[in-house]
Amino acid sequence: MGEKTPDLLIIGSGPAGLTAGIYARRANLTVQIVEKEYRGTGQIADSGRVDNYPGLPGIGGYELGEQFRGHAEKCGVSFTEGEAGKLWREEGKWKCRLEDGRVLEARAIIYAAGTVHRQLRIPGEQQFFGKGVHVCAWCDGAFYKDRVAAVIGGGDSAVDAALYLAGICKKVLLIHRREDFRAAKSSLLQAEAEENIEILRNTVVSKIEGTHKAEAIWTQDNRRLPVDGIFVEIGQIPRTEILRELAVTDENGYIQADETGRTALKGFYGAGDVRTKSLRQVITAAADGANAAVLAAEDLRRTTEKEV
Ligand code: NAP
Repeated sequence: MGEKTPDLLIIGSGPAGLTAGIYARRANLTVQIVEKEYRGTGQIADSGRVDNYPGLPGIGGYELGEQFRGHAEKCGVSFTEGEAGKLWREEGKWKCRLEDGRVLEARAIIYAAGTVHRQLRIPGEQQFFGKGVHVCAWCDGAFYKDRVAAVIGGGDSAVDAALYLAGICKKVLLIHRREDFRAAKSSLLQAEAEENIEILRNTVVSKIEGTHKAEAIWTQDNRRLPVDGIFVEIGQIPRTEILRELAVTDENGYIQADETGRTALKGFYGAGDVRTKSLRQVITAAADGANAAVLAAEDLRRTTEKEV
């Protein structure tokens, strides 16, 4: 008799994947997590300090990720290092081919590979990342209380971030490369009405200057704007290229699923930043992981009952 097919394969070891692993083990499923980097814990590891995860104010992002991971290990989740290259369903099982050629299989998949922040790709952006340059106002905005922050971008993320920062900072510069914003008119009007938000339209940022940390923004028309913090909010890119053939993503590449994580495909769930949602945070990613794992366990149990 061959080996029993594992119940669940989780792609991604960020807060969504690790939480899914913990909940799935507690539901007595056999679980394997595929992680791109050995002991990786996703984007959270890049966040110097996390101030909005309940009960753990000020914890380092790396440390929080390590704690999630340690918890998952303790619950009996197994980890495989590798990058998922192709996913498909065959004879009632999900298969995952890793970039190195190995093929893993499971009865269900939770896809929690996250997103990458779009970058400006200008001088100083990488150099001062985490030292004045940030990608999440809700995570790092509090460090700029009563100081001057700049938000770059013209979509909902940028305008929402500017509105959020306006409640914390002395002044917020909202810098957009074009005249027209993509953001909802209502939020833009709100931003325009805020006394401490200055909107700079048709302004292209060309360089970030600083010494030990970012100190100023240079624009393409050669203006130097002194700032304390810079929030690059120019969109995210979901890591879903490999799902193209499965047709489970929306026009922006996010997995179409509600908070249950269920998709149009049997046994395939999306969790965390990679799913269509309005707030992408550690806590919402973790919540997604919990929901998807519990729902996957329920669906698998029903399938087994039908088969018996
Ligand atoms: P987005 O809608 O793709 O907007 C990205 C913005 O960044 C655009 O204004 C774009 O400029 C600008 N941009 C892109 N690359 C740039 C570059 N290299 N240099 C300078 N600017 C650059 O992304 P998003 O704001 O993150 O929103 C993503 C989706 O989530 C949207 O559908 C949005 O409605 C949704 N969302 C909703 C809410 C909410 O409902 N409250 C909150 C956040 C996000 P151009 O306009 O010139 O292309």
